Amino acid sequence: MNHPWHTKAACQGLAPEIFYPPTDDEADAAEAKAVCGVCTVREPCLEFALTVREKDGIWGGATERERRRLIRQRRRTA
Ligand code: SF4
Repeated sequence: MNHPWHTKAACQGLAPEIFYPPTDDEADAAEAKAVCGVCTVREPCLEFALTVREKDGIWGGATERERRRLIRQRRRTA
């Protein structure tokens, strides 16, 4: 990643595998979500992932499934 907000990312230096768990399940995603939960750039990170329709990994504390749900919800309320 190379975005202005990335310099403040709480995930910097952590193992990428944490953010690309084998499944979207709560247990597999828990570690990444805990890091995202204290990240000060969570919002721009999530918005970026939603904008580019990022398919893989956990971004802004949201799994791929959760991001798809957010996109659907936004479409409905647009
Ligand atoms: S919200 Fe999560 S994935 Fe996004 S920059 Fe912060 S720690 Fe990294």
